[in-house]
Amino acid sequence: MSTDAPEVSVVIPVYNEEDGLPALFARLYPALDALGRSYEVVFVDDGSTDRSVDLLREQFARRPEVTRVIVFNGNFGQHLAIMAAFEKCRGRRVVTLDADLQNPPEDIAKLLAKMDEGYDYVGSIRRQRRDTAFRRYASLAMNGVRERITRIRMEDQGCMLRAYSRNIIDAINSCAETNTFVPALAYTFARRPVEVEVGHEERFAGESKYSLYKLIRLNFDLVTGFSVFPLQVFSFTGIIISFASLAFVVFLMIRRLVVGPEAEGLFTLFGIAFFLIGVTLFGIGLLGEYIGRIYEQVRQRPRYFIHEILERKD
Ligand code: UDP
Ligand code: MG
Repeated sequence: MSTDAPEVSVVIPVYNEEDGLPALFARLYPALDALGRSYEVVFVDDGSTDRSVDLLREQFARRPEVTRVIVFNGNFGQHLAIMAAFEKCRGRRVVTLDADLQNPPEDIAKLLAKMDEGYDYVGSIRRQRRDTAFRRYASLAMNGVRERITRIRMEDQGCMLRAYSRNIIDAINSCAETNTFVPALAYTFARRPVEVEVGHEERFAGESKYSLYKLIRLNFDLVTGFSVFPLQVFSFTGIIISFASLAFVVFLMIRRLVVGPEAEGLFTLFGIAFFLIGVTLFGIGLLGEYIGRIYEQVRQRPRYFIHEILERKD
């Protein structure tokens, strides 16, 4: 296996991308052929309900020597699809790419050239990001939050066109994480990370596969998976409020002796109480986010389930 290992594996998760796949094939393969390096493309069908699997099958028949297709039997999410491909791919370097042609496949050459300089993790920054304004601002905010509370330094966490060396892939394969964020996980194992600018276009066809709900879940995965800082915020808030309350009680006791009985400020009291209840509920919810993930992890169910693998057997 190691003797015929290709130089590069390109990993592509696919979820209901029938409209864009023909264009992807038409651009990706010439770009890879032009590299002058041996390669394989590993597609993972993440439980598509459209004709994506048929199209992948046809492509496999067309280029069986450089194409492998993993077919999931359900939708397990983009990051688990990528992890499945990491376990199966053989390349000495691995490049991840989205199926929607938002990142030009031609830029893979740029990432590999950077790796030739001795970097083991080549991240990417989207030059002129072409997404909705909401997505751009939300990412900017989340990027800032992550930058502050984790040790992960990435200028643009959302861009998936990235290249990893074999030792990072092996390290990722030794993790059994259920809810994860691949670029961040890889970063924690990188010795010499670097970032390059890549192109970004609007989706060639179809719509984003991330609803607002899925985006929020993904960002919770990123934050809870790589930091316990959110929990610490609550411990510290609790400590500060306890001390403030103690001071207030002492103040009220002295006031009772000096001024005598009074019962004003009922609504202020309600205001403060509701605010604190809100903070408490948020804290419990946050605990739940961590506990839910611990629960999923300790059940140790398979993280994904493969229905079929298309590859040339020799
Ligand atoms: N994807 C996937 N499973 C999912 C959602 C998305 O495999 O549950 C794939 C999708 O087909 C695409 C990539 O992940 O190749 C990125 O998805 P998308 O372009 O919709 O995300 P966005 O660019 O909007 O962040
Ligand atoms: Mg996209």
